[in-house]
Amino acid sequence: MQFYRSCMNMEQIESQGAQPLKDVLNQIGGWSITDVEETKDFNETLQILMGRYNTFPFFRVHVGPIPSDPKTNIIQIDHPEFELPPESEFKEKNYLEVLRVYLSYLRKLGVLLGGTQDGPPDSFSPTLAFISNLQQVVTPLKKRQESGMLFFRTTIRELQENAPAIDWLSCLQAVFHPMPMNLSQPIAVHDMDYLRGMSQLIEKWHKGRVLHIYMIVCLVGNLSPALDSRFQDVRLDLYKILYGKMGSRMIPAERWRKCLTDTSSFFEPVLGKMIVQEIFPQQTKKLAEQMFSEIQDALYDRLDELEWMDEQTRQSAKISVSKLQVEIGYPAHTLQTAKVNLEYQNLEINEDTFFLNVVACLKILRENSYLKLLQHHPQNKWHVYPWSVHSYYSIRHHMVVFPAGMFRSPFFHIEFPSAVNFGAIGVFMAHEILHSFYGYVLPEGCPTCNRSALQKSIDCLVEQYESYSFNVSGTFTLLENTADTGGLTIAYQAYKNWQKKHKEEKDLPKIGLSHDQLFYLSFAHAMCGHQEPEKLQFSLNTDPHSPLPLRVCGPVSNSQDFSKLFHCSSGSPMNPDNKCRIW
Ligand SMILES: [Zn+2]
Repeated sequence: MQFYRSCMNMEQIESQGAQPLKDVLNQIGGWSITDVEETKDFNETLQILMGRYNTFPFFRVHVGPIPSDPKTNIIQIDHPEFELPPESEFKEKNYLEVLRVYLSYLRKLGVLLGGTQDGPPDSFSPTLAFISNLQQVVTPLKKRQESGMLFFRTTIRELQENAPAIDWLSCLQAVFHPMPMNLSQPIAVHDMDYLRGMSQLIEKWHKGRVLHIYMIVCLVGNLSPALDSRFQDVRLDLYKILYGKMGSRMIPAERWRKCLTDTSSFFEPVLGKMIVQEIFPQQTKKLAEQMFSEIQDALYDRLDELEWMDEQTRQSAKISVSKLQVEIGYPAHTLQTAKVNLEYQNLEINEDTFFLNVVACLKILRENSYLKLLQHHPQNKWHVYPWSVHSYYSIRHHMVVFPAGMFRSPFFHIEFPSAVNFGAIGVFMAHEILHSFYGYVLPEGCPTCNRSALQKSIDCLVEQYESYSFNVSGTFTLLENTADTGGLTIAYQAYKNWQKKHKEEKDLPKIGLSHDQLFYLSFAHAMCGHQEPEKLQFSLNTDPHSPLPLRVCGPVSNSQDFSKLFHCSSGSPMNPDNKCRIW
């Protein structure tokens, strides 16, 4: 709360201006415009940036599991995330224009930090040239995948030989302090060619202040979101030009949104516990788990009915579902208060000093990465916050996740008629389980199945979705469409089975719908949303889900039960003669 309040205290933030950042810059040798200008050792400055401010100008360090052995964590080194987008992203736009815009952004930052309009005497142009050089040595992802160099296991010693400009042992010691490190420490690198090229560039540019200015620019980029509104405006201008209208959404307009995002990312473990206690009581968890097992049973029955699937595949599909790891509500560690307290025990937050709070939190993030390295079992496999409204299937962990945030109105309520709960959350549950079957739908995915029957069903769905006037690619969205259509069928069956086992629920007064109809209404309601036309156009090429109206019309028009319940005449748009289904 204190952190959030310090973030909302704009008056205080405005009155402090750029001074808190200037103080930080001066500690690492300063800049010609910040009153201090000392020459500091390159590697020493880099260590301070990484260890104290979680800023990684030349390469990124993080801790993550080994792909072939997900239970073991390892230090991983990758190229940095550049604030300036690489040239390859701007094929159509004039890249020189992008450089010009970025340069003017750097100059504006210089002015805000006390420089003149012409920029500091150690001009930004060479810095920009250096960034561009660095970006050019990044190996494209595809090339790394093809050469099998995406995850290369090595040691600090070998890395030191390959990229000698960096003092790797000291840098990694700074990041993982107090964990002891030695040259034999195993690590994994994602792009060794980049690290070699980067090292050569550092040696080449070592004279002069370019490397120092580049490090300062990275630090300013990382910390300036914690400064006053002038800094936010400059960033917003940059993003608007670089990314068009999408850019203005990258910086939230309302202050409270930014503060909420910052608070969430720094205090996830603490907030997770508070929110779970508030919105996700044990009865909710229990009911959700019962619903999930009903969905699972309906899916087993459905597998028995599939004509295109052979007996052996059917059995292995059932085993695969039974082995699925199901996470409902929150990750197990959320309620382990002692661990959370340990992570935050040294943190001091003051309501008047937002900038210093952010700096203190960055240090905590750094320390937590050290704790993560010590834990052999990855503590948190979740990609989402417990309070988010987003379920997913993880191929890597063969796991489905339904965070607590989903178990709220209009998706779910303990007092809602079960038709409403199954129509919304039930469909999402079935949808995610079906994603674990993605392999069968791929070409050559099931050689023992009746491939021609399966192909017929696939073609049917592809044609159906391409026939709508949304210009979607039926092939690109196929996996989501099969999960939408199959999810609805399975959840409805699960609901009917549930109904038989539980006491009868009375019809709701005044709405004139039976419970069975309510199931479909709840489904449509859960999928309902607003998509701006411009965003929709963009998502057609990037989002494997169909546009929202199709996520409703597609599945219901494939449902015989829906047509019967809502008396759709045969051959009408919602009741076509040709119905498609895979699951
Ligand atoms: Zn999906």
